[in-house]
Amino acid sequence: MHFDLHSHSTASDGTLSPTALVERAAAQGVDALALTDHDSTAGLAEARETAARCGIRLINGVEVSVTWAKRTIHVCGLNVDPDNAELQAGLASIRAERDRRATRMGEKLEKLGLENAEQRARAMATGGLVARTHYGRLLVEAGWSDELGKAIRKYLISGKPAFVAGTWASLEDVVAWIRAAGGNAVIAHPARYGLTNTKLHALVNQFIAAGGEGIEVISGSHSSEDAANMAEVARRHGLLASRGSDYHGPENPWVELGRLPPLPDDLTPIWSRWSQTLNAPVSPI
Ligand code: AMP
Ligand code: MN
Ligand code: MN
Ligand code: MN
Repeated sequence: MHFDLHSHSTASDGTLSPTALVERAAAQGVDALALTDHDSTAGLAEARETAARCGIRLINGVEVSVTWAKRTIHVCGLNVDPDNAELQAGLASIRAERDRRATRMGEKLEKLGLENAEQRARAMATGGLVARTHYGRLLVEAGWSDELGKAIRKYLISGKPAFVAGTWASLEDVVAWIRAAGGNAVIAHPARYGLTNTKLHALVNQFIAAGGEGIEVISGSHSSEDAANMAEVARRHGLLASRGSDYHGPENPWVELGRLPPLPDDLTPIWSRWSQTLNAPVSPI
């Protein structure tokens, strides 16, 4: 089976609706897609209906914002029960912080001269959850930058004029919520954090102590060298391996659903834990 276990819809900062995302995944030959919106499971019900119609598997996922050692780290919860109250209470607390941060980022950009920044970013965030991605798109639309990544790096990262540090949840809490919801916790795109080896191993050790089980080895934001390094981390720590594009929409032609190298043969895939879910028939709702 062909797995893509990291993707975004309009429920967070993707540009495709859950339906359009799942249809595209099916057209790309993906057999099992995890929708992992930032801090929200709001897109899962629609994605599940579409997946049943298209004959592919939908893995319930969420990408949770964590503050660890004064940095933001992302942890994906995969195969979670979205009805779990503990998980939902945790995600709601993070979304409240996102909302406060959205206002403060908007104020900073308005002071820099971007008129009605907050209102315009909120209008772009049709799912009601505001990410830096929405402000980045607004900056491009307003002509302040010619590309999303450049806009984010110029204004919205640590040390830049409109950066606001969010205070997210602890690693322990997030892993506990994911486990309470019956899911597996996976460190998302580990090579993106710019951690030294010492810090990366400290993160992994603390993650495993908290009950974390997996790491993204193959990611749309990893180079082949990053993937080789993270495969080594998985081996050294006995972590399960995950694979996901981190797709946000067709505007970024460099990342496509399902278009990823395979996991190294010797690693144990995270989906080896889901035989029950995967063996159940794909049935129309
Ligand atoms: P947030 O979770 O609101 O802090 O926003 C983080 C999101 O911004 C990530 O999930 C990406 O979608 C986006 N992002 C961050 N850095 C970049 C970049 N260099 N290029 C494109 N998107 C980025
Ligand atoms: Mn994103
Ligand atoms: Mn992420
Ligand atoms: Mn992501």
